[in-house]
Amino acid sequence: VLELQEIVKRYGNLTAVDGVSLSVAAGEKVVVIGPSGSGKSTLLRSVNMLECIDGGHILFEGRDVGYVTRKGKRVPDAQKNICRLRSEIGMVFQHFHLFPHMTVLGNVMEGPVTVKKMDRAEACELACMMLEKVGLSDKKDVFPATLSGGQKQRVAIARALAMQPKMMLFDEPTSALDPELVGEVFDTIRALAKDGMTMIIVTHQMGFAREIADRVLFMENGVLVDSGKPADFFGSCQENDRISSFLSRCM
Ligand code: ATP
Ligand code: MG
Repeated sequence: VLELQEIVKRYGNLTAVDGVSLSVAAGEKVVVIGPSGSGKSTLLRSVNMLECIDGGHILFEGRDVGYVTRKGKRVPDAQKNICRLRSEIGMVFQHFHLFPHMTVLGNVMEGPVTVKKMDRAEACELACMMLEKVGLSDKKDVFPATLSGGQKQRVAIARALAMQPKMMLFDEPTSALDPELVGEVFDTIRALAKDGMTMIIVTHQMGFAREIADRVLFMENGVLVDSGKPADFFGSCQENDRISSFLSRCM
């Protein structure tokens, strides 16, 4: 579904993502782990064109997502490519980013109505379905400020799903939550995984990584250092000292 070829992203002199190549197959669950500052968020943001990449290619379902080179920088070549890609790839952030002035239902309807020009009745029906999926049908008329962190994140997931994406990106979806609220968000992601959703998840929760991943990637200094099946990665045979020391600090 998704293929990244030699992605490079620099901030000034700092190379945040340094030549990362990766293919993600349909239905695959890829988990990215690694120390703070290793470029995990930058990589996800690049996939969704929230960053202009400095090098490399992003192919989604076999088509180049459409960058052109300008002053040595690869910039998205048309707004319509960005819109198309973002409606096909949903993203969920650490800090929810809900629209505070809209109700829960309004938040979930917004994408289909404004981006997809869906009529409001249809969008409302779709949004209600997505809220049911994340177990928040009863909260549809309240404003985000009245929700717990776990509920906010589930609304953010419903909002992403309302665009009917082919793939989901999760950037530390539970890092901002109190420990007792982490489980409900993981349950929601688990259910999506079970439905066959293709996803890339960045997380520091190694137990969840091990459980959900088909493949685990380890990033360090912008480089994809290693990847493997979770059993090998988290098993006692981990031969890479830096990875095993990272894991021992996380567990
Ligand atoms: P964490 O686990 O803390 O979320 P991360 O692996 O997601 O870390 P990134 O946020 O991708 O790391 O950052 C990679 C590097 O790029 C870091 O050194 C960071 O300081 C730098 N960086 C990220 N965003 C910017 C920006 N907008 N401007 C300048 N430097 C940035
Ligand atoms: Mg990050």
